[in-house]
Amino acid sequence: MTENVDRRSIRAARGPERTAKSWGAEAAKRMLMNNLDAEVAEHPEDLVVYGGTGRAARSWEAYDAIVRTLDELEPDETLLVQSGKPVGVFRTHEWAPRVLIANSNLVGDWATWPEFRRLEELGLMMYGQMTAGSWIYIGTQGILQGTYETFAAVARSLGRESLRGTLTLTGGAGGMGGAQPLAVTMNDGAVLIVDVDETRLARRVDHGYLDEYTTSLDDAVARVIAAKDAGEALSMGVVGNAAEVFPELLRRGVPIDIVTDQTSAHDPLAYLPIGISVADWKAEAERDPEVFTRRSRESMAAHVAAMVAFQDGGAAVFDYGNSIRAEAKLGGFERAFAFPGFVPAYIRPQFEEGRGPFRWAALSGDPEDIYKTDRAIAELFPEDAALHRWLAKAGEKVHFEGLPARICWLGYKERHLAGLKFNEMVASGELKAPIVIGRDHLDSGSVASPYRETEAMKDGSDAIADWPLLNALLNTASGASWVSLHHGGGVGIGRSIHAGQVTVADGTALAAEKLERVLTNDPGTGVMRHVDAGYEHARDIARERGLKVPML
Ligand code: NAD
Repeated sequence: MTENVDRRSIRAARGPERTAKSWGAEAAKRMLMNNLDAEVAEHPEDLVVYGGTGRAARSWEAYDAIVRTLDELEPDETLLVQSGKPVGVFRTHEWAPRVLIANSNLVGDWATWPEFRRLEELGLMMYGQMTAGSWIYIGTQGILQGTYETFAAVARSLGRESLRGTLTLTGGAGGMGGAQPLAVTMNDGAVLIVDVDETRLARRVDHGYLDEYTTSLDDAVARVIAAKDAGEALSMGVVGNAAEVFPELLRRGVPIDIVTDQTSAHDPLAYLPIGISVADWKAEAERDPEVFTRRSRESMAAHVAAMVAFQDGGAAVFDYGNSIRAEAKLGGFERAFAFPGFVPAYIRPQFEEGRGPFRWAALSGDPEDIYKTDRAIAELFPEDAALHRWLAKAGEKVHFEGLPARICWLGYKERHLAGLKFNEMVASGELKAPIVIGRDHLDSGSVASPYRETEAMKDGSDAIADWPLLNALLNTASGASWVSLHHGGGVGIGRSIHAGQVTVADGTALAAEKLERVLTNDPGTGVMRHVDAGYEHARDIARERGLKVPML
């Protein structure tokens, strides 16, 4: 994709005036542009938003055509996007989504990285990750609350109120992984984060997600041990290869309590093997992808072997959704699955309630609009202490990247209340422009991913992908503004199928009707999925909140 490099700088329009013919199309255009804003995207010149090579559009020509088409799109038309390329416009109706997106989907037997790359090379596909190709990435904040809640759950599992006095080790300070240091310090802990690429650590410091970084491991270790001993919250980055640094820390006997990792292990070409420099990374991966893949898996085997040894020594260790256990196993390390994934370990009880990463962005571009929505959420859910704690911390610590946005985890029969309230605030003029409301694909009813969201399901249904398909179809039928269906996000090609939706609150009565349905039905599919898999808590939620499940 190198011929695609283009250094133009993209910034979405702000404010209440639109050039598209409907707010659905205008919002899709602004969010596509926002995904590629240099403040938001990890490598915008290459159309890469986050997560290895997660792209927003297939090529710059495709990007220009999408923007042009969205401006021309009638309020009763729908644009179809196939792996980042606009391929057709059809007459539908005003309840229909303005955009339908399918990214990176391959038929089962063909769903491998080599086949995907062959097709990508031919210009026929792109990797959409989760929110990159579905235009609802909001920068590192998008993962921050989930990461914060996960580390809070880790503290509880250790019998602690917070992470004070503990030291966490992790890898990968990219678009998503970069949330880890702030999530740990928000939980009062000390953390050491390893990244091969110094520019990524510098970016996290600039954006307030990381306190400091150094190139000296000795220095980093001394600082984090002192912080742990003093019970201080501190995040330190260190430049290095995790496959070398993790075993070295083990050898030195550094007193590490918690270990995880968020390097881009899901894609062996986006994980740097030992012995290759950052400067040579791209050229080496392009020169011989097969050899690079083998070397990268061998390095992951060393990386994961150190993680398992930390667990053997008593640390709490978990896979943070990047497929590193599966890749390490392919690299020859047999005990790679000795530690659990974070969903069965910490997140599933939330999924049973349809809770997941609900997010919204202010098309006005004015941070004050987000602060107003923060207050509205706090008033809507006065009993939820964890939510209030999160909103206070986020308001204080989160630096907006691109359009001001917020995330918070809400569940079934909660999200629609937020959507309706925001719509009223747009209608009354309290907010200066519409709000777009979406979510990650990592949600309770929208993903099949046996190494992550659906790992170790109670009924063994981990790999059944009917659920995300039903989720996408239902959101389309319920009035979402754009709906997407992807393959391979998070954990890589062959390992997941997942869906997304975004719905615009433009202050109209029609938007209110759509928001009520979409934001009820979408998390409702999460409760349904967990009811079907036999989770008791999900059954109670369905009964209490009135979800109709015919065979319950
Ligand atoms: P990214 O590509 O933006 O960042 C990955 C980082 O890893 C880069 O900064 C890179 O320099 C670094 N890296 C690569 N190889 C390394 C090595 N050997 N040692 C040290 N650092 C190395 O990706 P991202 O958006 O941060 O996502 C990271 C991973 O997390 C991906 O696999 C993604 O699919 C997964 N993910 C997890 C969740 C979750 O909820 N847990 C959500 C989204 C994505």
